[in-house]
Parts: sequence; structure tokens; C-alpha cells
Amino acid sequence: MGAFGWFWKAMGAQSERNDKKSKAIVESSSSATQELAALDDAAVAQAARDSVRDGEIADKATFLAALAVASERTLGMHPFIVQSQAVLRLLTGDVIQMATGEGKTLVGAMAATGFALTGKRVHLVTVNNYLADRDAEWMRPLVEFFGLTVSSVTEKKTADERRAAYLCDIIYAPVNELGFDVLRDNQITDRSQTVQARADVALVDEADSVLVDEALVPLVLAGNRPGQAPTGHITNVVSRLREDLDYVIAEDGRTVALTEDGAARVERELGIDSLYSEENIGTVLVKVNLALHAKALLIRDIHYIVADGKLQLIDASRGRVADLQRWPDGLQAAVEAKEGLEVSEGGRILDTITLQELMRRYPLVCGMTGTAVEATDQLRQFYDLHVSVIDRNKELQRFDEADRIYATVEDKSKAIVEEIVAINATGQPVLVGTHDVAESEDLAAALRERGIAVSVLNAKNDAEEARIVAEAGDIGRVTVSTQMAGRGTDIKLGGATEEDRDKVAELGGLAVIGTSRHRTSRLDNQLRGRAGRQGDPGLSLFFVSLEDDVVKQGGGDEALSAQPDETGLIQSKRVSDFVAHCQRVTEGQLLEIHAQTWKYNQLLADQRIIIDERRAKLLDSAQAWEELEQRAPQRAAELAEVPESARIAAAREIMLYHLDLAWADHLELMDDVRESIHLRAIARETPIDEYHRIAVREFKELAQRAVEESVDTFKKVSIDEAGAHMEDSGLARPSATWTYMVSDNPLSGGGNSVLKGIGNIFR
Ligand code: ADP
Repeated sequence: MGAFGWFWKAMGAQSERNDKKSKAIVESSSSATQELAALDDAAVAQAARDSVRDGEIADKATFLAALAVASERTLGMHPFIVQSQAVLRLLTGDVIQMATGEGKTLVGAMAATGFALTGKRVHLVTVNNYLADRDAEWMRPLVEFFGLTVSSVTEKKTADERRAAYLCDIIYAPVNELGFDVLRDNQITDRSQTVQARADVALVDEADSVLVDEALVPLVLAGNRPGQAPTGHITNVVSRLREDLDYVIAEDGRTVALTEDGAARVERELGIDSLYSEENIGTVLVKVNLALHAKALLIRDIHYIVADGKLQLIDASRGRVADLQRWPDGLQAAVEAKEGLEVSEGGRILDTITLQELMRRYPLVCGMTGTAVEATDQLRQFYDLHVSVIDRNKELQRFDEADRIYATVEDKSKAIVEEIVAINATGQPVLVGTHDVAESEDLAAALRERGIAVSVLNAKNDAEEARIVAEAGDIGRVTVSTQMAGRGTDIKLGGATEEDRDKVAELGGLAVIGTSRHRTSRLDNQLRGRAGRQGDPGLSLFFVSLEDDVVKQGGGDEALSAQPDETGLIQSKRVSDFVAHCQRVTEGQLLEIHAQTWKYNQLLADQRIIIDERRAKLLDSAQAWEELEQRAPQRAAELAEVPESARIAAAREIMLYHLDLAWADHLELMDDVRESIHLRAIARETPIDEYHRIAVREFKELAQRAVEESVDTFKKVSIDEAGAHMEDSGLARPSATWTYMVSDNPLSGGGNSVLKGIGNIFR
């Protein structure tokens, strides 16, 4: 326990106390439930409102009772005791640990309703677009029962639709859409263009994924350089097209074509008459086709990988990177645009924000996940969040087998196939968790060779995946999936309709197989958690080889002698202890990377807050005009004829233009600094101090430069009742912007990501 032992003990005691208290409240709520059940809807809703005093839920028992009655009436679900407990813990701002299948969707909606009743606006952060829509619709009757409003914000919604959605009390949205709206709102030049309304609470589903695993993933807003071809815009428009509706892929998978609807949609979104007109056919249409080809036919990790910020083609027959290969220029650029890489045709990053920075903007963060306990350190260190463990509603019936450890990857792969074949022969459904898409494809091919029908999830389509995963518990199924694919979807035994539930239960329920240990046990447990939901029988089993990345990375140079049997299997306590040790080492490394990288990000996060405040002031007042008038009184006097509102708007536009430009330059510069500072790290200076010194100095200069250049522009740009004519001076804002998530996450992915992550510390 070490020097801080007393601290942990005290913390443990505290959460136990909380637990007892909330259990007592939940108990007393059940008698209140009986009383409320006799009342009509309006009276029940009123009882919930009456339970609030001074912005807090004062009478928690009545509040829970009202929610229970409403849930029963609107959704046909009476909350389990453990669900009500979880709601209380969420309302105090904890991250709750609740196993998969315990009903977190209802818990989240109940807690969000509680926050909303106290006048707080809640962003309910979902894993993907599909779940945002699904959960908002599913939970809508419950929320509306109390006269509150609920909506979802998803990728396909327009700015106007989002603006309306954000005004609701509870908004379901995936984290990247929330972040993209923050970034876009930081580019507006008039307050009326704001899309996102302020929220008080972020309630995060699968909290450890968002807050820990993907914490350092940057969300990026990029824009075309004024005057250049809008490659980014076309990419963006094409990226939203939907298979089978807007385009169709030929059966052989080699060609793709727009449907009539798709063509019409592209024309509408690009604001052109016809893609096939003489002026467009050789230009716009070519680009659209390239972008569509890149989107629909070229799949990351199968046809190419992204490494070191560059596209690398994969030689399909060998499954290796083909070093010197490039696609024809246009196609290369189209795939680069799709991946958010630097595109030969130009385009620049306007702004970026990491998920961690995004989440820290909320006054209150709370969350739910099946694997919170293992993330306790990170949640406390980075967000000051506490973890509450909620009991299972029914006891766990899953059997977790000991790891099967092999000397080589080859032996391991063979054993995995044999095991799946053997389980499949009994009819028991199998869900296999792999580390990446390529591994999934290889395994599926090997299984098909053995005559087994396999469903593969490859993170292409959330709704389709949800449908496949929902069936993963059916008799005779074999489903192969990467870590995140299909998360958040219930796997019911006997298929989505539970037709063969009893038969599958007799066969032992769902068997989950991991093809190697993840770099943290938390990720292993996420996978295990897919079996044995709500007291179902189930099995989990991991395969490991001494050549796995986790073992090599965590084991360092430690040599290990072991005696495998003729199949390569090693049965030795010493070896399984060693594997566990290796995983603890990689866990420690990840935490260290996270802490280090966050140190780099934190300063920029603080600086962004200053930029935000400055922007808000410029947007909401006449300060821009006042500052420019003061610095260039003569020019201001010349503009006396221009109506005041136009003058103020023009000044605002000029100052925001230079502020945003300076910020984008700053981000780019600091990125370069981070990369070059690596050299000093080798010289054993303290790179982080150096980085900070430069960041502070540059930021000061940024502020000055933005003002000076604004004065320059103010003097020379023509200003009339229509505002400032920036574009005449080549100072136009990007005419198109697009967003993406940098998927080369230092903390995620398979392969040697741990190594890459460490390499990334000083970049
Ligand atoms: P989780 O997100 O925790 O994995 P879900 O929210 O998807 O779990 O819920 C799992 C299943 O349990 C769903 O089918 C849901 O309808 C059901 N469920 C949840 N709570 C209750 C309840 N109180 N009574 C009956 N069924 C419930």
C-alpha cells in the first residue's frame, strides 16, 4: 500500500458510507413508489419537480419513486434497486461501474432527467451516432413525462437542426460531434451563428473509453486555403453519402457509382447545377468520383495504413506495406483527405481539441462503464473523478478460464482456430475479440476455410454492426470483431428475439475469446463483459503468445525459458505470472504516456480558454471597433459615413480573422516545437520546461500580432454598409471546412501502438 495507504483506506471507507446511504434512500423510495403509483401522470411529474429545492434534489426518495413510476408507465421497465442506486451516484458526479447488460441506458436517462429537473442542461455522451439516435428515441417518453425535452445530435444533422437540438434539456450525442461543434463555433463571426448552447453536465457512456483510452485523440477542424480548389468540401460532402442510397458498389467490389439520388444530393450540397454539365464533368465530377472511390472502396488497414502521418499502401497479396507505391495523384490526395492527412492539394488545420480538453470544459462530468475500477487512477488524476461500484442485479454466472499461453504466434493462431471449431461444433455461440481489422480478416478467412460461417465486424457501419452483434448470441454463431466494434449493443442469448434462449443457455451461453491480452486488463475485461450479462451463463478465454506485443513490450529484455508441449502450449504458473507482470508494465507505461502528453496539452488548453474569452468579447460587444478606432483614429474618421452597425461588424470580422489565423499558426508552430524538442530530450534537458517557455512567449506575440495585423487590415481593406471586403485583399476565411478525428491515437490500436505511443511522447 505504501506511504499513501491511509489515503486509499479513507477513500474506500468514504465510498462505502455513500453506498450505505444511497441504499437506504433507495429502500425508502419503494414505499413512496406505491403511493405515487396511485396518482395520475401530471401528479407524479409534479412530485418529481417538488423534490427539487435550490437547484438540488432535496427529497431523493420521492424523486426516485417518481422516476420509477414514470419509467414503468412510459417504458414498461421498473428500475432495479441497483439502477436507482447508480442514479444517485451519478447525480453526485461519480463514474459508476456497472457491468454490461445491467441497464445503463435507463440509468443514464434517469440521472439526466434528475439533472434537468434541477435546471441543468445535460450532454449525454454516447459511443456513436447510431446509439445517440437510438437512446434519445428510446428514452424520449420518460424524459417528456416530466415536461422536459430531449434530442440527439448526430453526424448527419445540419447546423440548423443542431442549433435546435442543443436547446433541449437533454442532448444525446457522440463525443466527436460535440467537439466538432465547439471547434466550429470558435470560427463564427456573428453571435447568431452559434450552434452549441452551453451545457452544465456531461454524462459519459462507456466513460473509460472517452475519458481514458481516447483522451488524447485530437478532434480537428480543417479548412481550405482561400482561393484553392475545395477538395475538402467535396471530401466532406462525399463522406456523408450512404451506401445503397447515394451510391452502389458493384458486386465484384471494384467499382462504385453514384445513384441518381446521390448525384442530386452532391449537386445540392456543392451548390452546382449538374455534375454532368460541360463545365463540371472534367473537374468537379472527377474529384467527386475520386473521393467516392477513396471512401467506398479503399479501406484503411486493408488497402492502406496510416503511419507517421503518411499514407502507406498495403500490398494485398502479402499483407505488408508496399514501400514505394503510390496511387495515381488524385486518388492519393482523395484518400489523404479522407484520413485527414496533409493533402497535396492544400488545406490547413484551423483548430484542434483533444477529448480530454473537451471534457474538462464541462462544469460537471460523470459517467458509466463496465470497467471503471481499473481506470480509477486515471479518472482521479486527470478529471478528479471518483468511482462507485454498483452491484450486479443478478450474480455473475460467467466462467473465466485461465489464459492459454503459447510460445509462438503461429502456434497460438492455430490453437485459436481449433478452439473455435470445437466450440462451434457444439452450437455454442462464439464472439472473438481481435486487435485490429487485419487480424479479424485473417482469422475469418482461416475459419471459413474450415467451413465455418463467420460474421466480421469491421467498424464500417454502426447500425449494421449493432444488428450483427445483437445476433451474436444465437445458436451456432461465430462473430469476429475488433475491440470497439458494436459496443453498447445488448447481446441476448438465442438471438435478438431470444427465441432459442434456453438452448443456448444449456450450451453454456456466449463464449468470448480474446486473441491476445490487451495492453491493459481493463480492455480485457471490456471484452469479457460481453458474456454473462444479467446472470446469463457464459465463458471467457484469452489466448496469449510470448511473441505478443504486450509480452515483448512489458517484458523488456527479460529472457524466459519455458517448455512448450507439442502444440506449443506452455502450462506453467511462472509463465502466466510473467504475462500478468508484462501487462502491468504496459499499463504503467500507458499511464506515464498519458500523464506526459497531457502536460504538453494542458498549457495549450489553458491558452485556448484565453482565446475563447477574447473571441466572446469581440463577438458580444463593440470592443473590436473601439480598439481599432483607438489605434487608427484617422481611418475610423474616414468611415464616419458607414452605418454604425456595419462598422462594428466589419471591425469584428477583421479582428476575429487575425485572431483565428494567429491561433492556427500557434497550434502549428507548437506542433513543430514538440517534434523538434525531442532532440533536446536526448540531451537530457527538460523538454517540457522548454516547451512551456516557448509556448508562453509565442502566445504573447500571437496576441500582439493579431491586433497589429488587424490595424493594418483595418487601414487598407474597403469597408462599406455591407461590412469589410476581406476577400478583395486575399484575407477570406476558408470557404469550406471539414472535420476529422486523428485516428492514430497514441493510446489505442493494435500492433506496436505501445511502442509508437512512447515514441510519441516527445513529438
Ligand atoms: P448496458 O448499456 O448496461 O449494457 P442496456 O441499457 O443496453 O445495458 O440494457 C440491457 C437490457 O436490459 C435492455 O434490453 C433493457 O431493455 C433491459 N433492461 C434494463 N433495465 C431494465 C429494467 N429495469 N427492467 C427490465 N429490463 C431492463
